[in-house]
Amino acid sequence: MVYTGNGKGKTTAALGLALRQVGWGRRVLFLQFMKGKGNVYGERIAAEKYLPLLEMEQHGRDEFVNLSNPDPVDVELAHRALERAKAALSSGKYGMVVLDEVNVAVACGLLCVEEVMGLIDSKPENVDLVLTGRYCPKEILDRADMVSEVQEVKHHYSKGVAARAGIEY
Ligand code: ATP
Ligand code: MG
Repeated sequence: MVYTGNGKGKTTAALGLALRQVGWGRRVLFLQFMKGKGNVYGERIAAEKYLPLLEMEQHGRDEFVNLSNPDPVDVELAHRALERAKAALSSGKYGMVVLDEVNVAVACGLLCVEEVMGLIDSKPENVDLVLTGRYCPKEILDRADMVSEVQEVKHHYSKGVAARAGIEY
């Protein structure tokens, strides 16, 4: 399943699916590409406090990735996250694995699309795999069973509203 597009709501849609899984007693691994452990997100606080079945992991540096010229460390961390996802898919431990912002990791060259396609190929039938992020490559869109494109109609950012706890993070 893929959530892509330029509007707000991709990561939160994936979190909604994760919440449903947890409700049915399934364990979820929610991997965040290009996000550092130093960034605090409400979803991570909620998971740690209330949702033992929702495991959230940040696989990135705290600094923003330079999209036109990524650091080799960013490349390494994205590959580690992909390896983690591969192991999780075959472990039998998880009902769902989410690769949050993986599409952006592909778009800026941290991963190549073949590597992500390989991961999709390795997915057992009984595990749900969710990919989020803008710029989803066509190969992945073609391969997915479900694609939703979140299209921006308006965003409060353009009115100068800064990122808020509970809304953006
Ligand atoms: P969310 O995490 O709120 O579901 P998202 O995953 O769809 O958003 P991303 O593309 O991952 O959005 O962008 C990350 C951040 O940028 C979010 O905090 C979001 O609020 C903000 N954002 C999303 N869409 C826009 C937009 N069209 N203009 C400005 N900022 C945006
Ligand atoms: Mg997002």
